[in-house]
Amino acid sequence: MTTNSKIRVRFCPSPTGDPHVGMIRTALFNWAFARKNNGTFVFRIEDTDAARDSEDSFKALLAAMRWLNLDWDEGPEVGGPHGPYRQSERKDIYSPIAKDLLENGFAYNCYCSQEETSERSKALQAQGKASGYDGFCRELSDEKIAEFKSLHRVPVIRFRMPDKPITFTDLIRGEITFQPEHVPDYVIVRANGEALYPLVNPIDDALMQITHVLRGEDLLSSTPRQIALYEAFSSIGVGNGTIPEFGHLPYVMGEQNKKLSKRDPQSSLSLYKSEGFLPEGLMNYLGLLGWSFGEDREFFSMKEMADNFDIARVSANPARFDIKKCTAINADWIRSLSTQDLADRLLPFLVGAGYSVENKERALILQAIPLIQERMETLSQAVGMLRFLLENDEEFAIESADLPQVQSAESKTVLTKVIEQLTGLEDWETQVLHDKLNELLVQEMGLKPRLAFTPIRVAITGRRVSPPLFESMELLGKQSCLSRISKALMV
Ligand code: GLU
Ligand code: ZN
Repeated sequence: MTTNSKIRVRFCPSPTGDPHVGMIRTALFNWAFARKNNGTFVFRIEDTDAARDSEDSFKALLAAMRWLNLDWDEGPEVGGPHGPYRQSERKDIYSPIAKDLLENGFAYNCYCSQEETSERSKALQAQGKASGYDGFCRELSDEKIAEFKSLHRVPVIRFRMPDKPITFTDLIRGEITFQPEHVPDYVIVRANGEALYPLVNPIDDALMQITHVLRGEDLLSSTPRQIALYEAFSSIGVGNGTIPEFGHLPYVMGEQNKKLSKRDPQSSLSLYKSEGFLPEGLMNYLGLLGWSFGEDREFFSMKEMADNFDIARVSANPARFDIKKCTAINADWIRSLSTQDLADRLLPFLVGAGYSVENKERALILQAIPLIQERMETLSQAVGMLRFLLENDEEFAIESADLPQVQSAESKTVLTKVIEQLTGLEDWETQVLHDKLNELLVQEMGLKPRLAFTPIRVAITGRRVSPPLFESMELLGKQSCLSRISKALMV
């Protein structure tokens, strides 16, 4: 696609619960499409459902967008010419439009109760016909209306779907046709006057001059309804008369080939933040869910994704969410950081785990990073790997699962010999330590290296999985090493 400054896309989540990865994938694809085409990325909050929406969730959404560097051109906090960008602040816009639709015959009052509509829908199904609303109130006589009113029935407003097939060309799926019997008339305003998603979403898209709607496949069935609404909008003068192009992104599948749902723990964005995924890593992985960079390339930045974004490479097939792959990509991103950058990102995790990090600890961390960078998949893993450097010898303790590693008779022999050998050592340096201990344990005592070094590693770092042993010993220093080994002899 050529550069087109008029492209306008939107990300318009409803603020319910925690933000989830499926929704962020949608945001990312819209963002990349806008950036690639020098377009405008609009962020709108669809908070018309007072019972489900929450302020906390709204705040979490904004924080997520900021954390992930999904910068928006119009929307909350940044404003823009089509604001406000929260639907709860746009309510006055919707009722006059609903009224116009009613007055011009595009919609009608429906007095049916829920029970009546669902009973008739079941009856249709029993006859082998398409279920759904049967158009009962489309042409009510004045007498019938008077009767409903005398019964104090308050109507909903239903949109009158045109009795013709609706065809559109999906940017991802190609031409799609919906037959009229599969798209029954639908409710746009509740009896209490609340305008609903199927109405307010296209109104805002029209008023905000959205040109392309990229959203999840689960919303495919609302597209024919919205196209019919757009046709009505041009008759009643809402928006500029253009119908956006639609592209429906493939489903994201979770465990057991089921659609990833909000309830899956791995779908919750807050988990990735607290586990210490880098925004770069997570966004890189989400970029692979239904899109491909080409040339089999799997490691790329958001900027690179945006520069290369092509909707033609979005697949219509479901994408599988694979947490292992996501973690591996995150590990690649961690390895790509500079020492200083990684240190800065680790800090909140160390502080969050209760360690005080002053200048002395900062210097130690900077020295330790090259030792752990290759071994980390997430930032939070650094806490366990670095704690031996941050705890003083009194508070330091071996992880209980690894205690047996220092408790056997062989381990005790090793640790005792190590103390004897190292007490007089002056040059406390990686290479010297390596040579001395190798000589003592492997050559003289004839132990296998793993058997020889594991007790020392556990005594000093508190766990079997640690940064490399001799480097760790050098960093920790002679006094602490010897004191920890002595202490390990007593547990
Ligand atoms: N608020 C809707 C949702 O979160 C937006 C859907 C759309 O993109 O049209 O599902
Ligand atoms: Zn009705």
